[in-house]
Parts: sequence; C-alpha cells; structure tokens
Amino acid sequence: MTKDTQPPTTESLLERRAKLLGPNVPTFYDQPLHLVKGKGVWVWDAQGRKYLDCYNNVPHVGHCHPRVVEAIYQQASTLNTHTRYLHETMLDYIEQLLATFEAPFASAIMTCTGSEANDIALRMAQAVTGKRGVIATDHTYHGNTTAVSQLSKNMPPLGGYGEHVRHVPAPDSYRPLGGESGTAHALAFANQVQNKIDELEASGMGFSSLIICPYFANEGFPDLPKGFLDPVQKVVKQAGGIIIADEVQPGFGRLGSHMWGHQYIGLKPDVVTLGKPIANGHPVGAVVTSTDIMQQFRSAFKYFNTFGGNPVSSAAALATLQVLQQENLMENAQVVGAYTKHGLQKLAQKYNFIGDVRGVGLFFGAEMVLDKTSKMAATEFANRVANTMREEGVLLNKLGIYYNTLKIRPPMCFSQAHADLLLQTLDRVLEKTPLHL
Ligand code: PMP
Repeated sequence: MTKDTQPPTTESLLERRAKLLGPNVPTFYDQPLHLVKGKGVWVWDAQGRKYLDCYNNVPHVGHCHPRVVEAIYQQASTLNTHTRYLHETMLDYIEQLLATFEAPFASAIMTCTGSEANDIALRMAQAVTGKRGVIATDHTYHGNTTAVSQLSKNMPPLGGYGEHVRHVPAPDSYRPLGGESGTAHALAFANQVQNKIDELEASGMGFSSLIICPYFANEGFPDLPKGFLDPVQKVVKQAGGIIIADEVQPGFGRLGSHMWGHQYIGLKPDVVTLGKPIANGHPVGAVVTSTDIMQQFRSAFKYFNTFGGNPVSSAAALATLQVLQQENLMENAQVVGAYTKHGLQKLAQKYNFIGDVRGVGLFFGAEMVLDKTSKMAATEFANRVANTMREEGVLLNKLGIYYNTLKIRPPMCFSQAHADLLLQTLDRVLEKTPLHL
C-alpha cells in the first residue's frame, strides 16, 4: 500500500515488476490480479473484491488454513535449522507420508521445489542404470532446473535438446493416436516409448528413465482407463529402465479415490516426485523411492539441501497432511468432483463448443472446440472464457496440448455450494462469450 493507503495500480505494479524482474515474467489473465488475502477457497484483491478460487492446488487444504499457519508459527518461533542437525519433525513427516504409499516405497528426500525433486529423480535413475537417456511426453513440464527444463517442449532449451532427451506424443483421449482408443491407444503409446528406448540404446547414450505425470496434467489430463500405462510399464521394465511418476499435480488425494495418481491409473513407478500442494504453500517438494534405489543414489551422489526438510517446512508439510486426512478432504474431492463434473457434462449438452468433459476428483475441465465434428481447438475462445470468468469473480485457467481446455483444480475444501457458483457463472459466461470475434 502507498502512504495514503490506496493500493498501487495494476499498471504501476507491472511497471515495477518489469523494471525489477526483467521482461516476460508470466502473470495470469489479461488483467493480472493483485491478491492480498486468502481464506479457504476464497481470495481477495487489493480493492477488496472476493474471488472463488477454482484453480489453485498449492493451498491444498484451503488458503491460510489455521492449523498449517499455527504449525509454521510455532516451529518458526522455536527453531529453524537444516538437516545436518538431528530433528524429529522431518522424520515424523516422512513416516506419515510413506504410510500413504504401497511397497516398495520406504524412504524419501525432502526438497524445496518440484523441480529439485525431479532433478534428483533423474539422478536416481542415472545411479541405478549407469545411463542418462530420458523419455518424456511432448507436452510436458517437469520444472526449471537445467536438467529438467531440458524435458519441456513448451520452452525448448537454447542450443537444442541434449542428445539424452527423447519425446513421445502425449496421450490424447479425445484425439487418440492412430484414431483408436482403449487398448490400441495404450499399445500405441507404449510403442512410441519402445522406439525411443531403441534409439537411445542404439546411440550409445542408453536408456535410464521414463518421466511422466500419471495424470498427464499439463497435457490436458486425458481420460485414460485404469491399466492404460501397463504396456508402457512393461517396455520400460524390460529395458531395465526406471519409471518416475511426477505427482506434483495429481498427488495428495486430489483425484478423490486414491492418494496418488499412479495408484489411480495402476502404475507401479520406481520413483515418485512431489511438490506444489505438499505444504499448503510453504515451499516444499519430495522424492519417494525404495530403500534400494535410495541406497544407490546416496552412494553415487552426496546429497545435501540447505533448506530441504528444515523443521519449519516439515511442520508445514506434516500439518497439511494431517488436515487432509482428518478433514476427509479426499472423500470431499470425490463427492464434490463428481457433482461438478456432472454439472459440466450438462453444460456440454447445451453448448456445442464444449467438445469433451474430462477429469476426476477435484481436477477436471472441459475442452473447447470450434465444433464437435472437426474437434478443431477453440484456443482463443477458451482464453476469452477464462478471462471473462476472472472478471465475473471465478478463477480458473486453460491448458492442454492446444491450450483450449478449461482447467479446474480448486483447494480440496471446495463444496457443492462453491460448485454451484462455478457452474452458474460458467453458464452465464459461455452464454455471452462469442465463439468467434
Ligand atoms: N512437475 C510438474 C508436473 C509441474 O506442473 C511443475 C510446476 N508447474 C513442476 C514439476 C515444477 O514444480 P516447481 O515449480 O515447484 O519447481
């Protein structure tokens, strides 16, 4: 706030950011939001306007949840240090986190971001296989370290991709590879991965790992049946590779029926990476794996992270996990998610430009098309819808292979009343937004 308590204008904040941070610093929406307060599923801007947050998965158990705030406050006022000193909270947290996994997951490393977690996962695969080749989808994002930014197709690395990186087409349930869905789609995906494994082995680089989000969140969360990843899992294992499941987006019960995206789809990864929702906004990530892989990693690389697993971050993560479990937020995600998706399906019957409604739990959306026959992506329209929703006080966004899928992923305390508000607002916005300008 300025001295006369007037909030700064959007223009002045954008100008300061450009001056202080440089150009091209991303913001959401044509009219960027200046948020000053959050509570539960609500956020407030500097003018005091309230918005329904249907997008943020970082404040997983609700913005500023009092138990998480209290845990951070209590630990920050007692001690904060790093893991070269012994402290119980990180161990308590890892024990409780591991209890949500199945065998053989038995150990973890805490980091500060999802990027770092994926970076470690790649090194674990390197330690186990002695090779570096990695396969990812062609519409993924796994983070911003030098190693993981190499995987991103959206922002190709300057100087080109490293020889060790190979991409396969992302699964797309609405427009499946080869035009076939079900088993044929799954086999086509596995085939693509097999080809890239062969290429890596033939090049002498060798194949170390396949890294995927088990929900393909950044790829537009295609609607894939349980078992879809069985064939790909088989080819990776046969080649002696490691499967890394990036759970930064679907993890921590967001899909409602399962705690983890890999459990939902029936994948058995070797390494799982966590981030975003893990500590309700406090910067935490983690890598979870078997004792055997952890031992190989720890022998190959000496790893220490100054801030990873510090007592305050551990307390925040522990409180978030406990709130998630004690407030039954997974069950809530399942019930409210199904209710909201049903509402979206009804809207899809009304509007010809809603081509596909997808998702599960509190992670779903609708793909916008010019018409249902051609399935041509209505990217610009989806963008206008997201912006008009923001003007109408409901925050959501768009993503997917063609950036035409509305993405809805609210805090886990989202209720049916919130869903009604979202659906009514969306109906009003779809009614008044022209498909073509
Ligand atoms: N993996 C996935 C799937 C992500 O979506 C993201 C962030 N959007 C990351 C990793 C990176 O996480 P962070 O920004 O915490 O480094």
